[in-house]
Amino acid sequence: MTEIIEPLRGMNDVLPEEARWWQRLESVARAVFAQYAYREIRVPLLERTQLFKRAIGEYTDIVEKEMFTLEDRDGGSLALRPEGTAGIVRAAISNGLLHNQRHRLFTIGPMFRGERPQKGRYRQFHQLDAEAFGYEGPDIDAELILMSARLWRELGIGRVRLELNSLGTAESRAAYREVLRGYFQAHERALDDDSRRRLVGNPLRILDSKNPALAGLIAAAPSLADHLDGPSREHFDGLRARLDAAGIAYTVNPRLVRGLDYYSRTVFEWVTDALGSQNAVCSGGRYDGLVTQLGGTPTPAIGWALGMERVVMLMQELGATAPAELPQVYFVLAGAGAAARGLEIAERVRDAVPGLRIETDLGGSGFKAQFKRADKSGATVAVVLGEDELARGVAAVKPLRGGGTQQDCPLDGLAAHLARAVAAVDGEGTARQDPGR
Ligand code: ATP
Ligand code: MG
Repeated sequence: MTEIIEPLRGMNDVLPEEARWWQRLESVARAVFAQYAYREIRVPLLERTQLFKRAIGEYTDIVEKEMFTLEDRDGGSLALRPEGTAGIVRAAISNGLLHNQRHRLFTIGPMFRGERPQKGRYRQFHQLDAEAFGYEGPDIDAELILMSARLWRELGIGRVRLELNSLGTAESRAAYREVLRGYFQAHERALDDDSRRRLVGNPLRILDSKNPALAGLIAAAPSLADHLDGPSREHFDGLRARLDAAGIAYTVNPRLVRGLDYYSRTVFEWVTDALGSQNAVCSGGRYDGLVTQLGGTPTPAIGWALGMERVVMLMQELGATAPAELPQVYFVLAGAGAAARGLEIAERVRDAVPGLRIETDLGGSGFKAQFKRADKSGATVAVVLGEDELARGVAAVKPLRGGGTQQDCPLDGLAAHLARAVAAVDGEGTARQDPGR
């Protein structure tokens, strides 16, 4: 027997029953983005590895050990994108979007990281990304957070809470970095290998360590808050005031540094207690230096990324809904003649009633088997076409839900009849007939 090809670890298939949750998340997100005038941008999944090294930082988990890279045809190194921001900034620069312009953008799609797969942590996962370019003040920071809060409300998700911090400017961060280096150097023997390497490269990264053995040492480290520069403090206070005014609760977490190097000033993370240790569902921050770091003109920028797998799990666990798009009409085709005409008749009904969901039983099984499938399909009505009906120019319409008896319906009135029958059971508006036809 031919061997089965196994799926890759940490890469998931989304089957139809699961896909409706994804569709629900995406459609709600698109509607919320539209409410705030964020416009969609789509960028490649593959970029030069150098882009991510320069943007995300050499001493991050992502660049040190999580990137999927491959060799280009000319020998250069390419990487599957581990996150969305670097590619969007690259695209904004390449396409000249940043010359005295302001943009609010979003993207939706897969990201790739070679992590150890576990619940809520995969090698191909998906993010919703929102990014804003050209806005300096704390109002855009607040707007982005308000937009994410609205998304939770629209999706029916509770049990998320917001953590905030300010990393200050590049300069104040540099000063703090030295303070931290001094502190961790004094405790070098307690550090793990990763942290020892980061002590040299970027000691701030040690604060982001997930090693529980370091938790105590990290908790006692000098606080960034004590080294914040004046303008960054003002910016942070401005953000807090706006969130307070909007009634958005948060806690300030001075240890929140985020896993990417490009952040400055505001960083935030929505966390949940409903998913075990994979508790971050949406994280973001300001990255005012990144555009210049990637060769563009200085442009203030801020964004967030939401982990869609984790949010789908939250939706499922917290009782949100995602309606299944079941067929509304099921065509039972009895006999060879009906099988041939059925396709054509269903096609005419689709033309006349846009949006009506019709499943046609193809393949010519017996009448009984077809009826069983019609019952199981979830459809509201079955349309039965047999030799006898066709000879008389009618279809038999049988309600499957909501009561009523089987009736013959002339074929030229079938579309209107089905539209009425479905609307009566499924509710007004689900299958309105196109008035133009
Ligand atoms: P974590 O601390 O869980 O590793 P992160 O800080 O690496 O998260 P970001 O790079 O900020 O995460 O990505 C934004 C969001 O994407 C996270 O809040 C999370 O919801 C999601 N995410 C990150 N990595 C994964 C992954 N491997 N699988 C599934 N979702 C992920
Ligand atoms: Mg991570």
